Amino acid sequence: MRQCPILMYHWFRSIKSPSFSRSSQLEITPHVFELQMKYLKDKKYQTVPLQEAVFPENESDLPSKPIVITFDDGTLDFWEFARPVLQKYGFNAVLFIVTGYVGKESTWDKHLGEPPRPLMSWDQIAELHRAGFEIGSHTHTHRSLTELTDREACLELKESREVLMDKLGTNPEYLAYPRGFYEARHKQMAREAGYNGACAVILKWRDLLHSDRFELKRMTIKGTESINRFGLRLQLSKVIPFTEQSKIPCGGGQNSEEFADS
Ligand SMILES: [Zn+2]
Repeated sequence: MRQCPILMYHWFRSIKSPSFSRSSQLEITPHVFELQMKYLKDKKYQTVPLQEAVFPENESDLPSKPIVITFDDGTLDFWEFARPVLQKYGFNAVLFIVTGYVGKESTWDKHLGEPPRPLMSWDQIAELHRAGFEIGSHTHTHRSLTELTDREACLELKESREVLMDKLGTNPEYLAYPRGFYEARHKQMAREAGYNGACAVILKWRDLLHSDRFELKRMTIKGTESINRFGLRLQLSKVIPFTEQSKIPCGGGQNSEEFADS
């Protein structure tokens, strides 16, 4: 059993974001983000690559308090606000990129009333990659895999992987399911497409009962919670077991209102 919290961030608060929007729960201010990173540093957490967290060559080589920090969607505000803070504290992060939207805007939730957010360019992503940030796939167009045919879902996973390989020169090792929605067949598709694993979300508390490397459970970070609650949830997340041999089918999240994801 290995224990390594995986944090899930999205984007930073913008004055243009309507406070009523569902995804506003996923926003964080630069100030709160810095407080959280300082907290992690003060508590002696050390970021590790996802591959090392999932498949450590030798578990005794892992730091005593390993943690993985992930960002979904590749919004431009990561470049402006997260990158300098992460580098200041010596932390790494995994960025899950929507390859078909790089350099554009996140218009995929427009129909839900969500404001489109500017996304990073390939030049910026390549620079982050060279600086040691991990770049993973968030599919090609951010459509929920559960709403697609098998053929379409396969294409989403494969095309994104090929584009990342073409642009960055290395194959992405990990994937994050758009909106956290997936079924057992999508785990198999991701495996066949060549990914080493995939990040999911804790959508219901029952999700804590099982985890495997194609449904790595992440802790949703809410910008509205206090630093004490952040610390408490971090402590609780450490009890999430990771079991490579888990045979329990995944839960999907379409009926959940308990946690928001994007
Ligand atoms: Zn997303």
